[in-house]
Amino acid sequence: MTNEEKSSLKAKLAKEIETLKKDIPGFEKLIKPIPPDNAIGRLTRMEAIQSKSIHEANLRAARQKLSRLERALTNIDDPAYGICSLCEQPIPIGRMMLMPETTTCVKCAER
Ligand SMILES: [Zn+2]
Repeated sequence: MTNEEKSSLKAKLAKEIETLKKDIPGFEKLIKPIPPDNAIGRLTRMEAIQSKSIHEANLRAARQKLSRLERALTNIDDPAYGICSLCEQPIPIGRMMLMPETTTCVKCAER
């Protein structure tokens, strides 16, 4: 990985972290306590429960991604950054640009 590639990855990580940090409070706001049946009707309540669990899954995924991105940004100057943690081969820069938080190459990720 060249220094130039590394600094553009660094910028990308910082930008994605910033975006997620802005998005997460919005996801948190979507998860509201569900009113009882007699307030909104049984069917609507079931829909509310369903969309709540979707929002919870989105929030969980966003938080996980944020912690992976932060870890990647912390470790970017580590010689192991950009090296697949499974096969120990360099991860192609194209994949790193798409997923700068990744720690495995495509082959290992599919395994
Ligand atoms: Zn690999």
